[in-house]
Amino acid sequence: MKSVVVFGATGSIGDSTLDIIASHPDRYKVYALSAFSRVEKLVGLTAKFLPAVVIVPTQEAKEEFIRLNNTGVFPEIRVGQDGLCKTAQDEQADIVVCAIVGAAGLASAYAAAKAGKTILLANKEVLVTAGELFMNAVRAHGATLLPLDSEHNAIFQCLPSQNPKQHLEKIIVTASGGPFRQFSVDALEHVTPEQACKHPNWSMGRKISVDSATMLNKGLEVIEAKWLFDLSPEQIEVVIHPQSIIHSMVQFIDGSLLAQLGHHDMRIPISYSLAYPERITHNAAKFDLSALSQLDFMPPDLTRYPCLRLAFEAMKEGIGACTVLNASNEIAVQGFLDGQIKFTQIAQTIESMLSKIQAPTLSSIDEVLVFDQEVRAKTQDYLAS
Ligand code: NDP
Ligand code: MG
Repeated sequence: MKSVVVFGATGSIGDSTLDIIASHPDRYKVYALSAFSRVEKLVGLTAKFLPAVVIVPTQEAKEEFIRLNNTGVFPEIRVGQDGLCKTAQDEQADIVVCAIVGAAGLASAYAAAKAGKTILLANKEVLVTAGELFMNAVRAHGATLLPLDSEHNAIFQCLPSQNPKQHLEKIIVTASGGPFRQFSVDALEHVTPEQACKHPNWSMGRKISVDSATMLNKGLEVIEAKWLFDLSPEQIEVVIHPQSIIHSMVQFIDGSLLAQLGHHDMRIPISYSLAYPERITHNAAKFDLSALSQLDFMPPDLTRYPCLRLAFEAMKEGIGACTVLNASNEIAVQGFLDGQIKFTQIAQTIESMLSKIQAPTLSSIDEVLVFDQEVRAKTQDYLAS
């Protein structure tokens, strides 16, 4: 029986993870769950999964949880980043699922790495902002890192477990192209948050849905892949594959390509990582190859997707530029979702912040977190002006 912590339990990845856990009460029990704004949903999850610990962001949220909790279950309630980090390091936690969105998940994921936990990482922003530091902590403390992001999970499934880089030529990360793949570039100026959040294949949280529409998500995934699999930028290629059936591919020096296929349902990669190295069943629909008419592939057009170009440039510059990329994007996406800026201004904002902010050398997580806040403040000022 494995004891599981789910950070970001009230989100989309949280839903899929808990759905699998509910199907396997003989294998998994929930040790802790965290929420941010959806305290009422956390109360419902508490009644269903009986966690020993819940984590909420503030003292007010704690009081709200106590007020709403009519379940007869009384978990310990922890608060804020300290509550998340303490829980990540608790002896009772075997598996830590990192599914908070954005750099807000960095400190707790890092705490889990330092405690040598098995980490199931959805929160790609952790690797984007602190890839080298995080991977060093994983190695130094003997943590096990398993990717939940479907592309990285696919690559992980295709690479040999021994000497994964031996004979590897490159990885090919697939991208759907998002909801605006066939819009004219001019029309992108007028698209709405509702349109951007309506992904053609995947059902996800709002921030990652907008990132998929700009393809910054693919850029973050390229950086994520670099750190996870220790690759050079030249070893990572992006290809548009609108059907999202092949989740990514690995090409070897002899010209062989291995791919992982499946429905676009996050329960597939999550179940793989939860049970690794075994496999378990879950509620996602079974894949019917005969229902497929065709699989298309095309290179991404960087004038339509400037965010992808910016991510490649930031990756080549280093960790500080990646933090600028990520933090300015988080603020710009929120600005777009709040109606403050246009869709096309997301890329413009990131590009402007990358050129304005001189990234310092960042040699600790604390320095990354301070710099991340600085970039956020500067991006807010930029948008306000
Ligand atoms: P959601 O927006 O659906 O969920 C985000 C979760 O994080 C919620 O539980 C939310 O709490 C919590 N949260 C939000 N802000 C904070 C904060 N400041 N501090 C602590 N917790 C916070 O996002 P997704 O589940 O879609 O994505 C989660 C992560 O997984 C992202 O990094 C995303 O890129 C990655 N990912 C997601 C995929 C997907 O299919 N959804 C696929 C691959 C990767 P609350 O809801 O209570 O406010
Ligand atoms: Mg992905």
